[in-house]
Amino acid sequence: MAKATVSPKATSATSSVKYIYHFGGGKSDGGAAQKALLGGKGANLAEMSRRGFAVPDGFTITTEVCTYYYANRKSYPAGLFEKGVPSAVAKLELASGKKFGDAKNPLLVSVRSGARDSMPGMMDTILNLGLNDITVEGLKAKTGNGRFAYDSYRRFVQMYGDVVMGVQKRSENEPEPFDQVMEELKERLHKHEDTALTEQDLKELIARYRVLIKERTGREFPQNPYDQLKGAIGAVFGSWMNERAIIYRDKYKIPHEWGTAVNVQAMVFGNMGDTSGTGVAFTRNPANGANEFYGEYLANAQGEDVVAGIRTPLKITDMARDAVFSDVYQQLLKVRAKLEKEFGDVQDFEFTIEEKKLYMLQTRHGKRTAQAYVKIAHDMVKAKLMTPEHAVRSGDPQALDQLLAPIFDSVDEKAAEASSLLTTGLPAGPGAASGIIALTAKKAEELAASGQKAVLCRIETSPEDLRGMIAAEGILTARGGVSSHAALVARQMGKVCVAGAGEISIDYTTSTLSCSGRTLREGDFIAINGTTGKVYGRKVKTSDSELKQVLISKTMKPQDSELFQAYDFVMKLADKFRTLGLRTNADQPDQAANAIAFGAEGIGLCRTEHMFFEGDRIDSVREMILFAEDYAKYRAEAAEARDDAARQSSLKGQYSQAIEHFTGALSTLLPIQQKDFEGLFETMAGRPVTIRLLDPPLHEFLPQAGPQTEALSKKLGVSYERIEALGHSLHEFNPMLGHRGCRLGIVYPEITEMQSRAIVRAALAVAKKTGKKVLPEVMIPLVGFVAELKLQLEIVNRVFAEEFAKAKTKLPYLVGTMIEIPRAAITAHEIAAEAEFFSFGTNDLTQTTLGMSRDDSGKFLPPYQKLGIVKANPFATIDQSGVGELMKIAVKGGEAVRPGIKLGICGEHGGDPTTIEFCHQIGLTYVSCSPFRVPVARLAAAQAALKYPSAAAPAAGKAKAGSAPTSAKSAKSAKAVAAR
Ligand code: PEP
Ligand code: MG
Repeated sequence: MAKATVSPKATSATSSVKYIYHFGGGKSDGGAAQKALLGGKGANLAEMSRRGFAVPDGFTITTEVCTYYYANRKSYPAGLFEKGVPSAVAKLELASGKKFGDAKNPLLVSVRSGARDSMPGMMDTILNLGLNDITVEGLKAKTGNGRFAYDSYRRFVQMYGDVVMGVQKRSENEPEPFDQVMEELKERLHKHEDTALTEQDLKELIARYRVLIKERTGREFPQNPYDQLKGAIGAVFGSWMNERAIIYRDKYKIPHEWGTAVNVQAMVFGNMGDTSGTGVAFTRNPANGANEFYGEYLANAQGEDVVAGIRTPLKITDMARDAVFSDVYQQLLKVRAKLEKEFGDVQDFEFTIEEKKLYMLQTRHGKRTAQAYVKIAHDMVKAKLMTPEHAVRSGDPQALDQLLAPIFDSVDEKAAEASSLLTTGLPAGPGAASGIIALTAKKAEELAASGQKAVLCRIETSPEDLRGMIAAEGILTARGGVSSHAALVARQMGKVCVAGAGEISIDYTTSTLSCSGRTLREGDFIAINGTTGKVYGRKVKTSDSELKQVLISKTMKPQDSELFQAYDFVMKLADKFRTLGLRTNADQPDQAANAIAFGAEGIGLCRTEHMFFEGDRIDSVREMILFAEDYAKYRAEAAEARDDAARQSSLKGQYSQAIEHFTGALSTLLPIQQKDFEGLFETMAGRPVTIRLLDPPLHEFLPQAGPQTEALSKKLGVSYERIEALGHSLHEFNPMLGHRGCRLGIVYPEITEMQSRAIVRAALAVAKKTGKKVLPEVMIPLVGFVAELKLQLEIVNRVFAEEFAKAKTKLPYLVGTMIEIPRAAITAHEIAAEAEFFSFGTNDLTQTTLGMSRDDSGKFLPPYQKLGIVKANPFATIDQSGVGELMKIAVKGGEAVRPGIKLGICGEHGGDPTTIEFCHQIGLTYVSCSPFRVPVARLAAAQAALKYPSAAAPAAGKAKAGSAPTSAKSAKSAKAVAAR
């Protein structure tokens, strides 16, 4: 639990501040717009009252009193209890004709919490306040119902004793002390049901409760109603900082500074007899969004009885046939319609029926599943019951993942949880996967080839495992965090993934996976839930999501899926507000096609190295690497001996093997890469495609010792030892900070040249073939010095010019860079003179700014989060005050030199809603994320635009991801790029 504090900048007690707001009688001081001040409950009670719903009179003590309370050692603004509260109570007395503490006609009140965002069940509530030994008799006389009066008193003493006076169980295993007292009495009286207790029994129970309170606290239960009220208000404010409320706020990112309001409201009684009752209802089904009345009620009961599950409530629709309540049901139907009309969204409301009269006690926007969200938004916007803005604002972007994920059969998963839960890891790729354990990529491929479902289980994954990952239903790793290779590739492919399940140990030699005392073998079944991180040691039933069937496998027609139509409607609505462009990280045409289906407008990152693993091309990559160093030596020595023909020829002989293999491998790879890029350009059909040149350290491509190395040695005619020696020579202590990124292209410019040539040839070929425009954007990785970029630019531009000349045509293209190390951000003004676009590689920018390895941080980040050192995982949500500041510097530097420069983000953060909001605020042009995150980003970007309407990037404007190129003040403008 993070340390929670309330800001000391709280309101000072000045007489001009209004701390108490009334509602009731068709009027109110406040309204729905004042949730920050009145809390959600108070604001909506005020709104309901002014809109003519039957709301018992009451008043709200504002959240400012709560912040004052915590900033001033739990004291209150001057005069609050001396003047403010008594005069507010007097108003209630006037409206009700009852008197607080009166022996004959007592006013009773409820005291409830109510924060800005609802925190269901986290804070305290007290009902029936105002009852004491005298007023209880007044209530009895007035209602002619002694049992009711004493039952109400009993409940109040119990709640007050618990919540305000702190009489609670002292250990986990102890029963609730008040329950225990009641059980003892019922046992002595031989009565099973609470309802069997008579007025006399309840008097006895109250006496026993009061003895318990005195024993535990040394204090008497207070008889003075104003003392009771002050105690209850203090307890509600106090409950803002109880442990479960703090944990809840941490989880849902609700600021601790907000504070809660307190609502004091005249009591109405659902427990006054058989013509009274209480209920909770949704105006529509919150699970699937169906336009049906949904909820429950109980006759002769108070609110907590419905929620507590002591008695089984009835379906709200059954009320229509209830002889006593059928008239009330007709009123409820009207309330249902009016609530949606007045509040513009599905409402989750509580009501009480006191002797057949209906009262509204609360309403709020109903929480709903993703499926219900899209259905409700679609239906209510079409019916003009909801504004398009609200439809976009009210969705949880992250939750859209639910629509894409294969799903576990809920009954089967519950059973698996009880019998076969192995462990819980990091939920890294949402959804459900169930299949046979494959401990190697090869095994996963074999299983898939034979038509079986596999779950690839690895200690950690590397690019080598890619084919196995593609073949598998899901991926489970024992190591690695949410931006580990396994996680990012899984998300990109839309695969289910649980990463960093540290309790699991995998032994490749015995082909076993052990956890929680169980050992599974390769070939056994396993199931992983990538939404919750749970891992089960058996098969669990799954099914494909409807959305995937329509958009990806195309096994279902759009018109046959109501869910798809609703989803599509919401996405198109979001697009109307979104100003950020939307791209995807994709390396293959099928991934690109998926992303387009989800709404991507371009590719923001194609990691070319991922293409190196397909088929047997990896052997050519290895050949290239094997001879790169010798070839570089040859190049350097040949350059020195420029004018010496004899030396030149002797060098050719000396390095003949390196020349043959290195240039041979490059010429093998060139057409292969060209084909890859052609596939991407064709699929993207005129949308921009950012292709990043080779980035990872070369050792990642080497074969494993043993059979793989042997096979390569045979194929290339190179000794086993030589390949092994290369592995040693490529070893680096810090490969992430080593020879990678543009450093590769600078030492081995031939690689940059080959890749550039493949890109331009592919672009020309596709433009010719399709007659459509092709928009390549070449991206240089890991630049820190402008000089690095310049060197790479020279190669790219030269190669493009050569190919244009050869083809006697040209096309527009851009060359830009990733901003992924701090020096690049700080010197962005220099870099922008050369770079035509920036794309923030925030995986590396986070790693290098925080000095935290993205692959090793799983060991210390969880405790860091617990201790509140970091609020969120910085590899998932951008660290705004650190990395974010660097991004702002880079944006400023880039804009200063190249106004309107195209600015993107392609790290994993590009699919995170909080980061997307930040990207919108700092004026990026687009975000790029894995294909299956595109819907999430689409909604998050629209929400950001609604929240910060003036923050849209000037360059982003209408053009979005395919925006026009920009030219540096110092950059040459002769290039074809100017035509774009
Ligand atoms: C990054 O660093 O954010 C990035 C996109 O590059 P990679 O993850 O491939 O290092
Ligand atoms: Mg990077």
